[in-house]
Amino acid sequence: MGWVVTEPFVVTRAEVDGRVVDVAVESGAVAAVGPGLRTAGMRVVDAAGGALISGLHDHHLHLLAMAAARSSVQLSGVGDPHEFDETIRSAHARLGPGEWLRAVGLDDRHGTLDRHRLDRLAPGRPVRVQHRSGAAWVLSSVALSAVHTGGGPGATQGASGPRDGTDPGDGWLHRVDDVAGWPRDLPDLAPVGERLARLGVTGVTDATPFTDPSAAALLSGAHRSGAVPQRIVVTGAASMAAVDVGAELEQGPVKVVVSDHELPGIDELVGSFRAARRSGRAVAVHCVTRVGLVLALTAWEEVGAAPGDRVEHGSVIPVELFEPLVALGLTVVTQPGFIADRGDRYLAEVEVDDVPHLYRCRSLLDAGIATAGSTDAPFGPDDPWLAIAAAVDRRAASGAVVGAAEAMDPAAALGLFLGALADPGGPPRRVEPGVPADLVLLDRGLRDVLANPRSDHVRATWVAGHPVYAADG
Ligand SMILES: [Zn+2]
Repeated sequence: MGWVVTEPFVVTRAEVDGRVVDVAVESGAVAAVGPGLRTAGMRVVDAAGGALISGLHDHHLHLLAMAAARSSVQLSGVGDPHEFDETIRSAHARLGPGEWLRAVGLDDRHGTLDRHRLDRLAPGRPVRVQHRSGAAWVLSSVALSAVHTGGGPGATQGASGPRDGTDPGDGWLHRVDDVAGWPRDLPDLAPVGERLARLGVTGVTDATPFTDPSAAALLSGAHRSGAVPQRIVVTGAASMAAVDVGAELEQGPVKVVVSDHELPGIDELVGSFRAARRSGRAVAVHCVTRVGLVLALTAWEEVGAAPGDRVEHGSVIPVELFEPLVALGLTVVTQPGFIADRGDRYLAEVEVDDVPHLYRCRSLLDAGIATAGSTDAPFGPDDPWLAIAAAVDRRAASGAVVGAAEAMDPAAALGLFLGALADPGGPPRRVEPGVPADLVLLDRGLRDVLANPRSDHVRATWVAGHPVYAADG
């Protein structure tokens, strides 16, 4: 990270592992932890008894889509078809001629959407509306023709037209957004980096199945410039398995999508796993349904598991699938934040039999399955503290409890976000001499913070000893 000029400093009177100590940081690493450290000539940060913990790792999010979502019309708070129409109409009125209107967060409450409805709401305008899953878009007629002619954002991944499972007649395109942020929009990543720093996040895994090296180049540039100071692991699609992502980024497992919209054939899935293996890489497999997980496990039985292999989401994991998960040594990267964000909808819409299996946490850990936390931002809320709270109380917005048996101890819930990026379900990183100074200072002791986990307890964040956030300036 060329932007890092680390100045040695000491955090005094910090609570670390239950003791009040001083923590010295030099050359980007924790140099010493203990009472009464020498502070002469060093900058001093007085923790006043606040906890100093390892920086949080969000093990599954989408940086470019997060940036793009910030410049989009947000539909998640839009409750009915009428309000949807008003929202699109007023966004249309605000934009100049020919500008793209981008909206995100479409769901069933907004009524049946097709291109004709968009054409009526925003006549002559290229409009794209992303389904809340992130997996599908509805395009207006103008937008659709721009995609076809290669003049619009759909051309960014070289698509000459809609792919399988799409119905351009209606304007629906499924899974064309491998490059979730439509890179040629050149989304501004700096607000995303700032936001993550404020949340105490010092490392992320971007789980987008990129098929275009330019997406990695954008992230690489954002890291080099300091716009996104966090450590970044990228996955990328199987077709990118052998592509070098450069020194700024770390290469993680290959992202393999078992689409809930259209299940891949077992041969295709096995082929993706093998492509990853040929490049010496693990796989991170998107599985959100029971059937999808069974299919993925079948591919794993065929190819064999490798260290670092993971199940992404694991939204529905029936108990009978615990055994193969344990036997294969797979890690589950889950998103308890969805319980807070979508729990009420799950209770209304998900089959009753599946509710106990939703976004499991505790039962996975009890079964010996390595489990890590993430937000899936921007498709889930980006705040890991909200996810930690939801892992503890399992409460939806209404207060209804989803899967009470999955409730976790608060320290274990925090631990979901403390694993190393390369071993997300592994032991929580600790503040001890020799570790990189990826640190978060909280405004009170850890027990008090965890009694009511909220990101506004974050007082300061450092990545490799470099200050990236300070609440008091
Ligand atoms: Zn995701």
